Amino acid sequence: MSDKAKVLIVDDEEIVRLNIERILEAENYIAKTAQNGAEAIQMAKRDEFDLVLTDLIMEDIDGLRVLEEVKRDWPETVVIIITGYGSLSSAVRAMQRGAFDYIIKPCEKEELIMRVRNGIEKRTMEKKLLEINKMEAILSNIGLFILDDKGVITSANSDISKKLWGDIPIVGKKLLKLPGVANTGLVDCLKQPLSGEEGNYRENIKFYSQKDSSELILSCHLRPVSFKNGKPKSIMLVIEDLTKRTKVMQQIGQAEKLAALGKLAAGVAHEINNPLNIISLDVEFLKSQIDAHSPLMENLQSIAEEVDRIAHIVKQLRDHAKREDSAKEKISINDVLNSHIFSIAFSQLIKKGIQVEFDLEERLPPVLIPRTKITQVLMNIIKNAEDAMPNGGTLNIYSRRIAKKKDMELTGDVKTGSGNLKDLVEIVIEDKGIGIKKEDIKYLFEPFFTTKGFDGTGLGLFISYSIIKSYNGMINVSSEVGQGTTFSIILPVAYHNQESEVAATEKR
Ligand code: ADP
Ligand code: MG
Repeated sequence: MSDKAKVLIVDDEEIVRLNIERILEAENYIAKTAQNGAEAIQMAKRDEFDLVLTDLIMEDIDGLRVLEEVKRDWPETVVIIITGYGSLSSAVRAMQRGAFDYIIKPCEKEELIMRVRNGIEKRTMEKKLLEINKMEAILSNIGLFILDDKGVITSANSDISKKLWGDIPIVGKKLLKLPGVANTGLVDCLKQPLSGEEGNYRENIKFYSQKDSSELILSCHLRPVSFKNGKPKSIMLVIEDLTKRTKVMQQIGQAEKLAALGKLAAGVAHEINNPLNIISLDVEFLKSQIDAHSPLMENLQSIAEEVDRIAHIVKQLRDHAKREDSAKEKISINDVLNSHIFSIAFSQLIKKGIQVEFDLEERLPPVLIPRTKITQVLMNIIKNAEDAMPNGGTLNIYSRRIAKKKDMELTGDVKTGSGNLKDLVEIVIEDKGIGIKKEDIKYLFEPFFTTKGFDGTGLGLFISYSIIKSYNGMINVSSEVGQGTTFSIILPVAYHNQESEVAATEKR
């Protein structure tokens, strides 16, 4: 087998197709072409491609369908969407459904090559990661248990049983009677082989470690291995610990997606600004031409307001895209929360029947982030809390110094300049508002996700997330519908040497 990467090009325009094919072949890829969505889906069913490059708008079966079908069969295949500016919103949708990147037509050769190369690189990395994971799994994440026909464990692999049950001895005990097993999918899974049915049973379950109560994701595979009078005499149970892999994969996906969506959003903003200015000027012109009492005045006014709204969104996106690397400042979170601008914001809340309660830890160490940026983040989150409590309520704000928790290690998110991973400052903003639906939580930080219709832009949390990320922190959220929502922002503590570093770079 050759190790050249295989790319499928889908476009209903022959010239485009052939052009891309020629470029990619010159770059040493194996390039195949499909002239419509149906053909592409057919080809992708037969063959695994490393990367699929698909036009978005095609007759009958469009690029979104191609994306979905390909991803269903080959979740690891990288899909890049080709699109015109006119259909950028569908490109956003494609990104949300798992496309890796998008290319705007017409596209320069160099750009095409670069994006395809990035896609293939991601794919290669993931393949490697998969290999490493496999090895790791073999070494430490797989456990083998043998049960008798009553479900009593007769032999067990010690590594994994330690992870699940700590030092509790398990051999000679009934699996279903072991602590933590009762409410898991294992119960149902074990029923069939115990009742004498043949076959394989596989289930992914959540399990709370009896050793340190961490949440584990386990793949459990049950299979009768020896029979007596047609009934299973012993059952093999293979448990694979997927916890680490699941978390790492989720994070790789999320970070990448947000970065790409950010680029896309900035592109849209740029394109929208000019026509917007023209509309604005035209509206002003029309206003000056008609009688001040004309009923049309109202319509013009409404156009002007909507244009303002769009301009506001565009400004947010553009400011965000600029991302000027503001000099890092060593600031005190408590000072920020006690500043004038926040006291104005809080007095507004109080007017709306929202009580604001603080619990700010004294002698909180400083963090390294520009004051304007952290202000923007806190304001966004407080504004959301306000929106979530239309009939008043309570807003609690805490600040505290925390040590890095054990399970934070998995995220690998928080890094400090000094390499000290222990020292963090956490700001918690807790409301007693309407809460967030479980199924919405995973979209919160994506651009344009809003449940507020025309009153929302869906940019607040997206921008906040990117800001906190770029200062090596993280944002977490937990919420219960009808109960309220808690946002936690974590930033690394700033040290003396970091301040002087910053001062030095600023002078240069
Ligand atoms: P916007 O506020 O413009 O809708 P955001 O990015 O700030 O955009 O928030 C996205 C969505 O997250 C909101 O529309 C809302 O559904 C949800 N959300 C954010 N914070 C809260 C909160 N404190 N309580 C309930 N829902 C929230
Ligand atoms: Mg908001």
